Amino acid sequence: MRFEGSFAQLKERLELLAQVGTWKELNPNQYEFRTHSGGVMSWYPGTGELGFQGQPESSLELEQLVRGMLSQDGEAMPDARPIMENLAHAPEFMNMSFLDDSYADSELVLGFVGALGTDLKVVCQIVEDRLKAFRYTAHCIRISTDVITKIGDVPQTENRVERIDMYMREGNRLREVSGDNSILALGAAVAISQLRYQESKAEPGRNAYLINSLKTPFEVQRLRKIYAGGFFLIGVHADHERRSRYLLDDLRLTKEQAADLISRDENEKEPHGQHTRDTYHLSDFFVSYDGNLDALKNQIWRILDLLFGKPYVTPTFDEYAMFMAFSASLRSADLSRQVGAVLTKHDCIIATGANDVPKAGGGLYWPTRNDAHEIVDEEDGRDYKRGEDSNAMQKKEIIENIIRSLPEHCRDEVAPLIKNSGIKDITEYGRVVHAEMEALLSSSRMGVSAVDSTLYCTTYPCHNCAKHIIAAGVDRVVYVEPYPKSKAQKFHSDSISLERSRKGVFFDAFIGVGPRSFFDLFSVNLGSGYAVIRKTEDGQAVDWSEANAKLRTQMQPCSYIDREYMAGHTLSTYL
Ligand SMILES: [Zn+2]
Repeated sequence: MRFEGSFAQLKERLELLAQVGTWKELNPNQYEFRTHSGGVMSWYPGTGELGFQGQPESSLELEQLVRGMLSQDGEAMPDARPIMENLAHAPEFMNMSFLDDSYADSELVLGFVGALGTDLKVVCQIVEDRLKAFRYTAHCIRISTDVITKIGDVPQTENRVERIDMYMREGNRLREVSGDNSILALGAAVAISQLRYQESKAEPGRNAYLINSLKTPFEVQRLRKIYAGGFFLIGVHADHERRSRYLLDDLRLTKEQAADLISRDENEKEPHGQHTRDTYHLSDFFVSYDGNLDALKNQIWRILDLLFGKPYVTPTFDEYAMFMAFSASLRSADLSRQVGAVLTKHDCIIATGANDVPKAGGGLYWPTRNDAHEIVDEEDGRDYKRGEDSNAMQKKEIIENIIRSLPEHCRDEVAPLIKNSGIKDITEYGRVVHAEMEALLSSSRMGVSAVDSTLYCTTYPCHNCAKHIIAAGVDRVVYVEPYPKSKAQKFHSDSISLERSRKGVFFDAFIGVGPRSFFDLFSVNLGSGYAVIRKTEDGQAVDWSEANAKLRTQMQPCSYIDREYMAGHTLSTYL
């Protein structure tokens, strides 16, 4: 809907609205009208466009009323009275439900990520079935057929290899031509909105939307922006062998086709390609699927119990230790990234580490509080105080030296070849001690042996840390984020094993609730959701049932501006 004219003219045409709300100039390019019932209309003088938001029912009524008032014949007026009445009063029922914890109909959006060849359909099916116990209806959105096919162009084919290849290419093309690497997430949001409309005429309710599957970190970021606390990412881990077998046996691909598709899916060279590996570690939950359906079901059921506030789901030691490794990472002032590690023995944390610059006397720099209560860092200590990353500087110098030593006529041609030769992956010149090394050093400073210990690190160790981990006698290494540049496995295949059954230090991909959701879902009263009560007043453990459970973090269909309005309205009813 549009209105072209001045603000004064618009106000005059909509004169009657003054009885049910107030106008506000947000800025010269946007005016807002807010009804007492929480409906919101925005008018943009530049384009003349009118938009309606806020409390869904009221915004619909407001739109209807405005449409009538702006129509040329103005004939919609006689039946406007009941609508005006509604708009003039804030509906009592909604005030408190959005301000306290009584709102129980939050929608849920779950994204899934798994490397190519992981059977995500099975995972979605288990989630869908289990959600029924919570009185939720699940709707599956397949990025391939529900998004790519609708916004792009994928020719029909019976050949499965061709089909996978065509969806990959079309996804890449859509990202490239739009210049937006999250375009498929936008398509998923539109699909959700359409499903909601078909299901309940735009009213949110106990619906869960399962998005299968996400392939770039940009899609995850976009969905978190849209759905905030209502979005969770589930990463499904299946080992390389199992995924290859699925592609070879079930889809009848040749070895070459399978290897090519798997490596493209993990990390395509082009920035608008698929980057499943970088997407996976953004997950809230990590589950493993090795073909055992019962094991998969147990993992999924626990995740849903946790999401729905079951009071007795507590972290495993792996989850706890990984969260501690993550929290250790937060103290790092490294210029490129924060990595954390904890060393444990017999389910007990014996040392922590983060990546930062070492200080004489042992350990890493900490900022300190001076007499004026300023928190200060040692001059010339950490990298940021020096203003540069020594590793980056040194690599630059090496590259420049090589280029300078070449005959002048071929420098321009050879320079990019040198830069792409892998020389940039060198990490040796960093001043920082890596998190894993600092954890080992920290335990040795305290006189505790690392023999037979387990090391939890937020990132897969580099080759340099790996050799010290092996030499220190660590038995198992658990990691979340893969580190593709790591040469650990290549250099130390004699001492590192990716399977528990083989000898060597076991490098184990983390499974469980990741650090991202740990705090919100395990804290009984400090997370962003409602407080969890575990016992009745007379000391009995409380009963919990799926059918009466509500999501721990509620996704409210209103903005903080609406809640602020409701707060004011609620206050006025007390006075
Ligand atoms: Zn390292």
